[in-house]
Amino acid sequence: MERPLLLSGFMGTGKTTVGREVAVSTGRPFVDLDAEVERKAGTSVADLFASRGEDAFRELEGQVLARVLAGSGPAPVVSLGGGALLVRTTRLDALDRGVVVTLEATPEEILARTRGGAGRPLLAVPDPAARIRKLLGERHLAYLECHARIPTTGRSTRDVARDVREVWERDPIAVAAGAASYAVDVGSGIVGERLAPAVQGASVALLVTDRNVEPHHGEPTEAAARATVPRTAKVVLEPGEEHKTLASLDRIWNAALAAGADRKSRFVALGGGVVCDVTGFAAATWMRGVPWVSVPTTLLAMVDASVGGKTAVDLAQAKNAVGAFWQPRAVLCDVQHLATEPFPGYRSALAEVVKTALIGDPSLLVLLEEHTDRALARDPELVREIVRRSIRVKARVVSLDEREDGIRAWLNLGHTVGHAIEAYGGYGRLRHGEAISLGLVAALRIGERLGRTDRELSERCIDLLGRLGLPVDLSAEPLSKAVGLIGHDKKRAGARLRFIVAAALGRVEMVDLELTELRGHVLSLCP
Ligand code: NAD
Repeated sequence: MERPLLLSGFMGTGKTTVGREVAVSTGRPFVDLDAEVERKAGTSVADLFASRGEDAFRELEGQVLARVLAGSGPAPVVSLGGGALLVRTTRLDALDRGVVVTLEATPEEILARTRGGAGRPLLAVPDPAARIRKLLGERHLAYLECHARIPTTGRSTRDVARDVREVWERDPIAVAAGAASYAVDVGSGIVGERLAPAVQGASVALLVTDRNVEPHHGEPTEAAARATVPRTAKVVLEPGEEHKTLASLDRIWNAALAAGADRKSRFVALGGGVVCDVTGFAAATWMRGVPWVSVPTTLLAMVDASVGGKTAVDLAQAKNAVGAFWQPRAVLCDVQHLATEPFPGYRSALAEVVKTALIGDPSLLVLLEEHTDRALARDPELVREIVRRSIRVKARVVSLDEREDGIRAWLNLGHTVGHAIEAYGGYGRLRHGEAISLGLVAALRIGERLGRTDRELSERCIDLLGRLGLPVDLSAEPLSKAVGLIGHDKKRAGARLRFIVAAALGRVEMVDLELTELRGHVLSLCP
């Protein structure tokens, strides 16, 4: 419970009552945001609305919330005003720096609870019931972007407070994607407990895994699903990228058919990025889309593939050629699973962690620098923190750009050159993360040449990559040959691409470069 607990939701859903109860039972301070605003303004919310209008109130509310989120000391329980998180940038900040729980109630219940109550300026209208329905409709999507939603209609404060506390203690990471929002849980030995709520209510649970993962983790995962959904079925795919194919998809569809999976069924992916990508796409297409739960079992799948909703299969000549954006219902990252991941794959994924630190979390880089040996030894506590921090950065970026139209390109740091090196080797010579390590070295050095990256930062990151046992020597790479594959989809003369450079530790920038210019920079890196 390191981050503040923010209780969100419509007026009358019990935010203050429940908040007080949680604060008492956890011994944490309680903050009523409206009361704080009143104190700051020196007048009541109703008077503020009447004298200065809703916009002035919201501005003040935003300032007070920002102060609470930046506060030090024990993380408090905060009861928010019903409109406090309606502005999306404020909401995303709250989701990143706090744990946001939306309390829900039916319009009838809200009307009954608020009737006759003073201090509700938005309901001071002739037909409050219609107003409640209208506002709920307008705010619906904003309330869905949260860490968890908890119903309160017909329930006691104690029960609701217990559920809220449970979410706060779990401390999940939220991926805000409108109606498709979801939470990522990171922990040790969490599948048994967390899979049940993730598949609850499904008619059939279809577990998809692969032949390497199944002997280690298949049984307990299947048992956890079966404890909640009596009708479960399992598909065990052949492992590896060469099976990220339409044939594997076909096997999943047919297993779903045989299991009688209808629109209420749920798919569960248990495996590395391949299993997660194929299962997600199978879920996106089965019955025009059924929910799926991702249980990634490799470090790469946890820190990268688990967030963002990209699902796909490969065609013979084109990786990820056929796919869909289809967000999972829940993601469970159980770091115990990483104990059986083959070491080379685990190590190679640490390149993506370094990339993530460069994009948005300086302390993640420091963590790796100070505990390199523990990271390589897969110390569960450290790995948990690494996974959490990496996912948090990716969730922040993806939430701002779900469909990859803008800043999601930041995640391509090191990938422009890395992909070319990987593709030139025919995907067999280097692991993905090893190619990304080399791509990061290239991006850092090119950033220096462009006057965007400090040499000191480059040296620091390259040193860390090397200490992690990742390749950093570009002179050993066939760059003069791989360079032709950079932006190979951009055949036009004068084509430009957005190259991502590290502007500082935790901050990247996009630089618009002519393809020929970029290729020239890459060639200059070969002595
Ligand atoms: P992978 O899924 O092929 O797994 C690597 C190997 O480890 C496989 O042989 C697998 O059977 C085995 N394995 C997995 N977990 C294990 C465990 N816990 N114990 C024992 N063996 C285990 O490869 P990967 O590196 O996890 O993922 C690569 C794939 O992820 C690529 O296809 C890539 O395109 C995709 N990816 C997707 C996204 C996305 O946003 N969707 C992001 C990054 C990567």
